[in-house]
Amino acid sequence: MKELTRLLSAYRHADRVLSVVRKIREVYSRIRSDYSEVRIMHVCGTHEHTITYYGIRSLLPDGIDLIAGPGCPVCIVPARDIDEVIEAGFKYNIRIYTYGDMYRVPGSKMSLARARAEGLDVKVVYSFLDAVRDAKRTGKESLFFGVGFETTQPTVASRIVYGIPENLKVYSSYRLTVPVMRYVLRRPDIPLNGVIAPGHVSTIVGASAWSFIAEEFNLPVIIAGFEPLDVVLAVLTILKQLVMGKPTVVNLYSRTVTWRGNRVAQDYVRRVFDITDGYWRGLGLIPETALEFKDEYEHVNARKYFRVKVSSSRDTIPGCKCPDIILGKAKPIDCPYFMKSCTPQHPLGACMVSQEGTCSIWARFGCRLRLKINVDS
Ligand code: SF4
Repeated sequence: MKELTRLLSAYRHADRVLSVVRKIREVYSRIRSDYSEVRIMHVCGTHEHTITYYGIRSLLPDGIDLIAGPGCPVCIVPARDIDEVIEAGFKYNIRIYTYGDMYRVPGSKMSLARARAEGLDVKVVYSFLDAVRDAKRTGKESLFFGVGFETTQPTVASRIVYGIPENLKVYSSYRLTVPVMRYVLRRPDIPLNGVIAPGHVSTIVGASAWSFIAEEFNLPVIIAGFEPLDVVLAVLTILKQLVMGKPTVVNLYSRTVTWRGNRVAQDYVRRVFDITDGYWRGLGLIPETALEFKDEYEHVNARKYFRVKVSSSRDTIPGCKCPDIILGKAKPIDCPYFMKSCTPQHPLGACMVSQEGTCSIWARFGCRLRLKINVDS
């Protein structure tokens, strides 16, 4: 515990952060004539939290923009999936297990929270293992709503390999961040100069999973942790690579991330799931970005078991900018509803619900400036 506190205070030390910020200013001044704007995308709600909470954007020189990409696993769950889970719950009178972050995300007609108010048996759990334990204890027919990126999938897969109660089925709404970044980078309407790769996801997939960004798209890609010093060091490393003109993948989070990642975890996921095309809320179908159960695990698959299909669904209300925010094409303040009719207390879109949603983070911490120190002093 002492060691953890020492490490955290080192990575949050204002003087250290500011000395890197000064270096960023110096390096950027050398390339400003070539790059009037440097657009750096990160792909993780926790990075957005760090950047906004510590006021990192306000420390960077004008011209460097930190852009939130598709890094919130709850924000991108299609309304159709929520609709199907709710319909299965009511139709078969089953218990629904969900994470707290999913609970209030709107479906086409209602969220799981609203469905619970209308009588659906919804139980919020902290982990898949909680759902397994509860299903075993009650013996009740149940459905676990499986959402999340590469970090949450291995625990579910490994538990399924060793067996789960027969009365528990899993609805897979799992999505993959690595291929979705390829999709983002291929889009001509999202120009970028560098990428900060997600530290948590990288502990599973490994730093090597992101090397395509440097090789195929000629962009710097830095794997970074989640403290302020991690983020500013990532920005500095990207700028240095732009100066050198040699984009490559750099792992600045070696305290947890290895080059190949967690191969045991990867193996479990490969054993249980196939990669398939995935629908992302408001973005449509994106090739090879979702996980679905392999045939041999069909008995666990809630989609196959309950066979509920909704005919039409609605991901966003008219005017909600969530799809553009998820792609880094807009910021929460571009939305006419932000902090007017859409607030964390009364969210209209998925990005305002989750703790990792960009709108929610900006709403809660957007006005805070934690490091009130003159950068140039
Ligand atoms: S502020 Fe609300 S309505 Fe606007 S983009 Fe964010 S979640 Fe959607």
